[in-house]
Amino acid sequence: MSKYNGKTSIEKVLREFYRKLSYGKSKVGCLEDFVIDSYVSGKLSEEEEKKVDTHLLVCGYCLHKVSKLEADIKQIKVQESIDKKSVLENVFEIVVGFTKAAIQIISTSGVIKTGQLQPEYVRGVKQGKCDIIRVGQKIADIELDVDIFYDTNTGAKEVMVAVKDIEMSRRPKFVLSLFRNNIKIETKNTDIAGVARFENISYGNNVLKLYEEDRELGRVNLILQELV
Ligand SMILES: [Zn+2]
Repeated sequence: MSKYNGKTSIEKVLREFYRKLSYGKSKVGCLEDFVIDSYVSGKLSEEEEKKVDTHLLVCGYCLHKVSKLEADIKQIKVQESIDKKSVLENVFEIVVGFTKAAIQIISTSGVIKTGQLQPEYVRGVKQGKCDIIRVGQKIADIELDVDIFYDTNTGAKEVMVAVKDIEMSRRPKFVLSLFRNNIKIETKNTDIAGVARFENISYGNNVLKLYEEDRELGRVNLILQELV
């Protein structure tokens, strides 16, 4: 009996030997990048996989590439799960009801700021037979104000989201996407004033996802109910 316990130990020794011998050098017959990708993501057939395994036994260069890709993928997955967690912790909910003449806040995890609105703003809105509410909340260190406008003549509803206390150059980097029933309806960048406006919001569950460049920071769940 060999003192090596079967094939696995011999493979380990061989791998280590060739890793030292050929590390950093590619040679004829080395694995193409797309083959390494498929190998790491488990998309190769059993037969193809065996070929790669055989090559990795004798090629430190490719083995290094495989280990590096595996480590990178692991890192990305960890980052994704951190991002996902922080997005779920940054949900700001506003539930509002609409009668024929007015908007009512049913519940919110934010701060109701309608009373702090500039009198001219409210008066201007009222003259046009509109109602308005403002609710504010912090999402991932971004202070948001959400204004909901309601045209009591036509029944049209609009939402205006403002990012506050953000330096001028950073303001247009925010993106808001409006979803209804998990379908993306509209995407808008905040303007130089830090504002994005969505017209014709419907009753039901609306979700506004806030991104800074490509990274999702959090969500505003906007639930609009028709009251009788
Ligand atoms: Zn190779």
